[in-house]
Amino acid sequence: MTSEITNALQGEKLRQLLRYVSANSPYYQKVFRETGIDIASIQSPEDLKRLPFTTKDDLAGFNDDFLCVPKNRITDFVTTSGTLSDPVAFYLTDADVERLAENESESFRCAGGSEEDIYQLMTTIDRRFMAGLAYWMGARKMGAGMIRVGPGAPYLQWESIQRFSPTVIIAIPSFIPRLIDYAVANGIDYKASNIKSIICIGEPIRNPDFSLNELGKRITSDWDVKLYSTYASTEMGAAFTECKEGKGGHLNPGLLILEVVDEQGNVVSEGELGEVVVTTLGVEGMPLLRYKTGDLCHVYYSPCACGRRSTRLGPVVGRKQQMIKFKGTTIFPPALFDILDMVKEIELYQVVVSKNEFGNDEITILLPLQLQTAVFKEMLYSLFKSRLRVTPSLEFITAEELTFRIYKQEKRKPEKLVYI
Ligand SMILES: [Zn+2]
Repeated sequence: MTSEITNALQGEKLRQLLRYVSANSPYYQKVFRETGIDIASIQSPEDLKRLPFTTKDDLAGFNDDFLCVPKNRITDFVTTSGTLSDPVAFYLTDADVERLAENESESFRCAGGSEEDIYQLMTTIDRRFMAGLAYWMGARKMGAGMIRVGPGAPYLQWESIQRFSPTVIIAIPSFIPRLIDYAVANGIDYKASNIKSIICIGEPIRNPDFSLNELGKRITSDWDVKLYSTYASTEMGAAFTECKEGKGGHLNPGLLILEVVDEQGNVVSEGELGEVVVTTLGVEGMPLLRYKTGDLCHVYYSPCACGRRSTRLGPVVGRKQQMIKFKGTTIFPPALFDILDMVKEIELYQVVVSKNEFGNDEITILLPLQLQTAVFKEMLYSLFKSRLRVTPSLEFITAEELTFRIYKQEKRKPEKLVYI
């Protein structure tokens, strides 16, 4: 698709969206009324800057005011993960569920998938979680197969891999080393499986320069599989998925208008870092205008070597609200994870961020008790020092206690990061 066609298509969908929210969204009706905005003055994505941003606080504070249809028309009730705040409700109509399927089948194709593939899903499909359902529907729409094993359960994962010969895994990437370790410990010839690629959700597998990060390297050094990163959120109901080039996740321009902005709200240029802002196209239940995700990514507008011309996003460097100011250095949690993932002895860890009596951030890394040796501590301190210039505190607890803290039953994802 050339950029002219994309612009014309997005302009048309944007005008439809503005007419729709001004007729149906109590929240945006109020915004337009209070700011005196005439939606007829917004014709194309470039005009969007006349509208105010929608923030996470707006969404949390006026949650149900964003809903554009009566609740009896809601097909699927989901909530956001709420890492830093209470989960926000998200309502999907039947058409929204179909839009998700559309998005995901397109994502799978971008990641080299086809109707020849069989996917094995290693994430939750229930617990009010949007992504699991989207993957299942996307595979179905594309005509591929899907095995819904869910998270954890390495025995069942391998039993399914051996019995049904899936070709692609969909998983949180930090689960894959555990899966490999289980295979090794139980004499499973994992290299003989048909798995050719892994769609990695929720955590980055690359550095900002697109080289594999430590987790990505750890997986591919043990196993000859291709990793595809995908970045998505409940609010956008769409995903940015990598193609075979591995140079950022591609925007689906039919589903989202993307802006990547600096602190002042201005769009950043090629290769620069900014906050991801999305306007959702074709959403019926809870459409969003200029929603600030809080996620910081580098953006690439230049055409990709795969032939697609859509804008790409680099790995999420961090969340704006997760920025840690530690001993005068700015740190994002993924940088800490990356260092911890480098160390083969560390199978489990949790990063705890707290405030000290002076209101400054403190970082403590919880590790299993058996690693508590002077040599290990010295090695880890010097690794942190060389990579980040600062050293967090280390605290050792039993592996049982640590597992309990990380894999809390009521949470949908392992908790590698907590705030206290
Ligand atoms: Zn590409």
